[in-house]
Amino acid sequence: MLSEFDLISQYFTRAPRADGPVALGVGDDCALLMPTAGMQLAVSSDMLVAGRHFFADVDPYSLGHKSLAVNLSDLAAMGARPLGFTLALALPEARAEWLAPFAAGLLALADVHDCELIGGDTTKGPLNICITIFGETLPGQALRRDAALAGDDIWVSGTLGDARLALAGYRHEFTDQIIMDGDEHALAATRMHHPTPRVALGIALRGIAHAAIDISDGLAGDLGHILERSGVGATLAVDTIPSGPALLRQTHTFQRLFTLAGGDDYELCFTAPPTKREAVMNAAMVSSTEVTRIGCVDALAGLRFIDVNGVPLDLQLTSFDHFRTT
Ligand code: ADP
Ligand code: MG
Repeated sequence: MLSEFDLISQYFTRAPRADGPVALGVGDDCALLMPTAGMQLAVSSDMLVAGRHFFADVDPYSLGHKSLAVNLSDLAAMGARPLGFTLALALPEARAEWLAPFAAGLLALADVHDCELIGGDTTKGPLNICITIFGETLPGQALRRDAALAGDDIWVSGTLGDARLALAGYRHEFTDQIIMDGDEHALAATRMHHPTPRVALGIALRGIAHAAIDISDGLAGDLGHILERSGVGATLAVDTIPSGPALLRQTHTFQRLFTLAGGDDYELCFTAPPTKREAVMNAAMVSSTEVTRIGCVDALAGLRFIDVNGVPLDLQLTSFDHFRTT
């Protein structure tokens, strides 16, 4: 059995890049970070608990990826550039067969985003992964939840719903209505286990988007946070919301259900004035990320849904909650 210190030095200690923002990494009482002069620090924590946020027997490489991805996604939603992160880890046992792939998945994504592991804490206990991430953003240009204005367009990145479809497959839900073969489930499961944080898009939207949020609990609920905090409402053209490639093969009903009230998408939902449509498309291009315009912000509070012909839909989102994992 590895000791706590062997474990940290073997799996979670790497020399920080010489030209990066980390002045001192793992090994001392604190790490030392050097944000760029004049920038604001953006800080966020996310905890992943076995049995609640992931299956305890999930592939550890994917879990390492996802643990950091959900934190990077929070930075993306603020338009912040990643600097580094800490990892607080409770483990039932120190097994190399688990630790090696977990660290590999985690650090591979860290390298993609130049976001270094700078410290943490390690303890024995039920599997629990808590990451705190640090990023930087331009003062006054963070994409906050409270900044949407009536008249803004509503946009979403990528596609939605495949992660929820994968969960339905694992749980054998709706088996009389969802027809999915093994390949289709594998396609959907990729989105569930391997979310892509939209960091480059978030940064490209600085000075263009008004408000943004990352979609972790379903579009309708997460957009609802923007609306509430901004004191506005919205109308969504439901059938313009892009379904994931696996979900596209399901019925209209499930496309609506899983794109609006799915979860685990880690796409960005953001608002921007109609005068910035070209700028938004340009931000999408420079960040190689698809974006789709799906509705508009209204002065009238509440979230409304319309179909392709502009006819109001009564989607009863509250009943969708019964299908949820919580
Ligand atoms: P302290 O007693 O000061 O809390 P620890 O003995 O817990 O320090 O940790 C020693 C060093 O290893 C610290 O720099 C800490 O940030 C780092 N560390 C501990 N656990 C992890 C981990 N899971 N990942 C990365 N660094 C870690
Ligand atoms: Mg400690």
